[in-house]
Amino acid sequence: MTPGANQPAPPESGARLCRGGKMSVPIEWLGFAAITLSALAYLPQVTHLIKERCSAGLSARAYLMWVASALLLLTYSIARKDLVFISLQSYQAAAGALILYFCIRYRGQRCEEHGGEPQRSRLVRTEESV
Ligand SMILES: [Zn+2]
Repeated sequence: MTPGANQPAPPESGARLCRGGKMSVPIEWLGFAAITLSALAYLPQVTHLIKERCSAGLSARAYLMWVASALLLLTYSIARKDLVFISLQSYQAAAGALILYFCIRYRGQRCEEHGGEPQRSRLVRTEESV
């Protein structure tokens, strides 16, 4: 009897993790777990960038290449009909584009923690300019 004969095969690879000779978790779940971790890994960077308006240590050129890479791999994944990589590259392209946008918008700005001026001085400057 072939593994998974009494279960419908997943649409693509059908690969599954085996445990004790029994078929268990579809291998795609590993991919979706990795996507979840990738999504969570971006959060501290995006949060700091937007909340503090601090682009310290970020390279717009690097993020431009990350976005281009993600779009190319997204195209490849769509052609291969690989749902895990379509999801991953879609997220990578969107997150990279978001970081790129704010990286350019806040270019040269640093928070106090990264050697910039204290927040208060930015508020004072804003009040003075009104
Ligand atoms: Zn900072």
